[in-house]
Amino acid sequence: VHGTAGSVVVEQPGLKRASTLRNIMFVTSEVAPWSKTGGLADVLGSLPFALAERGHRVMVVSPRWVLLGRFRYSLLTLAAMEAPFFLELPVPPQQQDPPRSPTALAAAEAAAAAAAKAANGSGPTAAAIAEIEAVVQAESSVPKTKYGQDIMFVANDWHTSLIPVYLAAKYRPHGVYGNARAILAIHNLRHQGVFPPYTYESLGLPPHWYGCLEWQYPPHQRQGSWAEEGRSVNHLKAGLTTADRVVTVSAGYAEEIKTYLGGWGMEGIIAARDPVLNGIVNGIDTDEWNPSIDPHLPATYDATNFVEGKAKCKMELQRELGLPVNEHIPLVAFIGRLDPQKGADILLEAAPALLRHNNVQLVCLGSGNKDLEDGLRWLEAEFKDRARGWVGFNVPFRARGWVGFNVPFSHKLTAAADILLMPSRFEPCGLNQLYAMRYGAVPVAHKTGGLRDTVLDFNPWAQEGTGWTYTSCDAQGLLHAVGVALLTYNNHKEDFRKLQLRGMAREASWDGAAQQYEQIIDWAFMDPP
Ligand code: ADP
Repeated sequence: VHGTAGSVVVEQPGLKRASTLRNIMFVTSEVAPWSKTGGLADVLGSLPFALAERGHRVMVVSPRWVLLGRFRYSLLTLAAMEAPFFLELPVPPQQQDPPRSPTALAAAEAAAAAAAKAANGSGPTAAAIAEIEAVVQAESSVPKTKYGQDIMFVANDWHTSLIPVYLAAKYRPHGVYGNARAILAIHNLRHQGVFPPYTYESLGLPPHWYGCLEWQYPPHQRQGSWAEEGRSVNHLKAGLTTADRVVTVSAGYAEEIKTYLGGWGMEGIIAARDPVLNGIVNGIDTDEWNPSIDPHLPATYDATNFVEGKAKCKMELQRELGLPVNEHIPLVAFIGRLDPQKGADILLEAAPALLRHNNVQLVCLGSGNKDLEDGLRWLEAEFKDRARGWVGFNVPFRARGWVGFNVPFSHKLTAAADILLMPSRFEPCGLNQLYAMRYGAVPVAHKTGGLRDTVLDFNPWAQEGTGWTYTSCDAQGLLHAVGVALLTYNNHKEDFRKLQLRGMAREASWDGAAQQYEQIIDWAFMDPP
């Protein structure tokens, strides 16, 4: 698999303003900073703004979640939706013609809130659908909104993947939104929204559309009682078959999901949609993730003084975490959900060899799977420096595992780290390696999905590359790659500095990705609906 087939080449790169202005509505289950469980929220917190800055009229629609501390994950599926909220993005005033009326928005919001409330009794799926429907209806019934008939809907992952289905089944046939298009953006194919067949009734779709959602898992993937016979409705499958275009978060991932290993049963359908499938690598929020102005860091730095800056950040973190304070000991970091996808178990398997044979410090940040959380605690206890404990009073740690979701700490750790590990089994795009490169931490990653596209292998002869990738997805593969990285850190300091600099200079802004989205939106409007 070589991740270039689905990549998008922009026709007129570099223009700061789009040549054709569109009306775009993003619908999503989470949007940073209001709600976040992972990368999806980061993308929705940035991409719409980047498009609005280029002159488009953009709206983001997302549920207003009730979050109760650490139960946020389960609540994402169980929470009662209070009301959807609408986020109108700032568009330069010269493009507001006529200026938008706040009442139109309020009316749309009220209608959607009422619908969501009415549907709350019938479960989260119905509430979500009611919300989507209400948005569409309110939009069309409010005369003053400028979104009009030729709106571009962007649905994100399975939670909103019924939007293209509604367009096709309920609106287009009646001449409503006849010229609208829908893009389905896949941020993670693993989660597909699979429910028992009887839930179809609550979706309000015509009976003869059942086949669009109908799904039968192959025997080896069947789980639970309702899936015993393999019968189910699959929201993502329906979106994939009806969307005008499909976008994933990297060209490498676009290739992988067409194969048996990466398709999660969906590979045939995705391969059939290959002509309208593209991959666009996510950008990053360069205001939030900028080491020269980051308020979370004990010392800010840029490309001119990153060696001293990172050393200060590292020593401060070592002090804070009870690690031996020494700027010359390489600090290796891991940040991510504790989930088999992210390969935290592979890291735990590799950690003893890594820590026994090298003078390194390992710091992990993550939460999720209980066993893996316990694994992080075990790691800490196992690698306290016992030999020193006899002499000194404090027993220094060599590895720390911080169980939790902590945004300021993730910034501090990225700044302090020399090497960031991404042992993901699969990774649609991955953001932490992008943050790491910008902060001068060199990524060591499994060569998969977006990691393949964004981490370019170090080539000491040509002095190219921004990190190391490895192909064998296990502890051995990881250990070998980290070994090479540590060797370079310890023995080829100048090479390592240049690697860091290339990563920091890498173009990662959202404007580039926004231009590629524009290109795809143009293509969507060129095809008949
Ligand atoms: P995914 O969406 O699969 O979780 P990504 O790499 O695309 O993975 O995005 C993960 C996002 O969540 C990043 O912004 C990362 O910094 C953040 N994140 C993950 N785990 C933690 C944590 N324990 N504390 C703080 N931020 C975290």
